[in-house]
Amino acid sequence: MTTLDEFTQPTAGPTSDPTLDTLRAHVTGQVVTERDAGYDAARAGFNLHFDQRPAVIVVAATSQDVAEGVRFAAEHGLRVSVRATGHGPGREPSGAVMINTSALTDVHIDPEHRIATIGAGAKWGAVLGPAQEHGLAPLLGSTTDVGAVGYTLGGGMGWLARRYGLASDATRSFELVTPDGTLLRTSATELPEIFWALKGGGAGTLGVVTSMEIDLFPVDTVYAGNLFYPIEIAREVLTRWRDWVADADRNLTSSVGIMHFPPIDLVPEPFRGRSFVIVRGCWSGALDEGAELIDAWRQWHAPEFDTWGPLPFAAADAISMDPTDPAPALATTEWFDTLPDEAIDTLLATMTPAPGQPPLVLGAEIRHAGGAIAEYASAAANDLGRSGEFLLGLLSMVPEPQLALAVEGALREARESLAPFVTGAAYLNFLEGEERSSRAVTAYSPENLARLRRVKATLDPDNRFCHGFGIA
Ligand SMILES: Cc1cc2nc3c(=O)[nH]c(=O)nc-3n(C[C@H](O)[C@H](O)[C@H](O)COP(=O)(O)OP(=O)(O)OC[C@H]3O[C@@H](n4cnc5c(N)ncnc54)[C@H](O)[C@@H]3O)c2cc1C
Repeated sequence: MTTLDEFTQPTAGPTSDPTLDTLRAHVTGQVVTERDAGYDAARAGFNLHFDQRPAVIVVAATSQDVAEGVRFAAEHGLRVSVRATGHGPGREPSGAVMINTSALTDVHIDPEHRIATIGAGAKWGAVLGPAQEHGLAPLLGSTTDVGAVGYTLGGGMGWLARRYGLASDATRSFELVTPDGTLLRTSATELPEIFWALKGGGAGTLGVVTSMEIDLFPVDTVYAGNLFYPIEIAREVLTRWRDWVADADRNLTSSVGIMHFPPIDLVPEPFRGRSFVIVRGCWSGALDEGAELIDAWRQWHAPEFDTWGPLPFAAADAISMDPTDPAPALATTEWFDTLPDEAIDTLLATMTPAPGQPPLVLGAEIRHAGGAIAEYASAAANDLGRSGEFLLGLLSMVPEPQLALAVEGALREARESLAPFVTGAAYLNFLEGEERSSRAVTAYSPENLARLRRVKATLDPDNRFCHGFGIA
């Protein structure tokens, strides 16, 4: 296998190399290496903890550029990684060609047929705004800052998921550059095996998706928000939420979480340095029914802060209030079929910092799944990685690189202590770094993994697309 290490030596000035010059001649976007200005901007992503240093980056301006970059990698036997926003980094791509899709931002909304066509670099915000002008919504997740295509290839679980399923269920077609550099279209009727494999198996594994067509859904104003309760009653809130969602209508997608807000200026004053247990969610049915559901919580125990109320879905970011500034973070995940009291107590113990110490795991959120998510699971590639009832996400910040080992240790210990209660399957979108490689196989039943591997072996027999989900 050729390596391009010679291009990565940090010397001043733009690279001039006959091989790269040929590639540059065929690409209308940019081709950059470590020697070029623009290298850091082209490789940096949202999650600053993962310092990705590919040998060559093709910042594509067109689908054709993507094909040129992928063909170049194929000719030289190089590995390929894909980056849109850097919210979901995979294995470190040193020595690889990175295809940066962030400039492929075209979005077209067809309100009559309720379809959106979305370029590989577009974030959900570029889809949600124009779709909402027609009273329509895509199945985005907790933030409009995430890339629509990368999110969808890993499933995509948002605030409408129990009603309409995962984002991957609502795809109509993908335009794909395969690992040999061929540009093709795939849908339920065109190359259907590839279409099936991409939906829940395709992030960084089967080529580069250059655009996708998705269904939009009629959603305008929802009843949504957060109840912030004092951390002291976390156990009561968690057990009440578990019992509350047991027979929840599909119009309700909700979560319960624990958040230790760090004592930093970025955090608004009433939350700074404090811990809360939070009941969060979105009701997409009749507004008065949503209000009635949340009134029952208000009557049970008055929250310290209450943001639930009618919300134009265009403002869906207000539900999770995810950060939008790049930051160094580590996260991990587990699925549960049930949440016995012992599991809740174990999670609470995990989230309780040692006396006198700051918390290492800052946030835990348990999302209620089931509904359409589970109903459509058997048709999806990642069948096991979406059929649990409760999805846990654990989040830590790594403000200093020297804290990384301690934070990794805390997340590992949290998973170990919860092991007796989990299903063992992973939700793919919540995996990052090495875990994207090592744990991805748990998202697939043996039959689906074998089927996915047949598609993988046909498209990418040398596993050069090995920086996304580890499925080979
Ligand atoms: C703040 C935050 C909130 C989130 N909320 C949710 C949520 O509510 N629900 C949910 O399901 N997930 C959520 N996620 C996870 C997110 O969906 C994944 O991290 C997803 O992979 C991000 O995709 P991206 O394109 O933005 O990121 P990138 O890091 O650019 O891409 C992620 C991976 O997808 C692959 N990829 C990207 N584009 C392509 C392409 N065009 N072709 C082939 N492979 C590609 C690459 O392997 C890459 O490593 C969240 C993540 C963050 C950081």
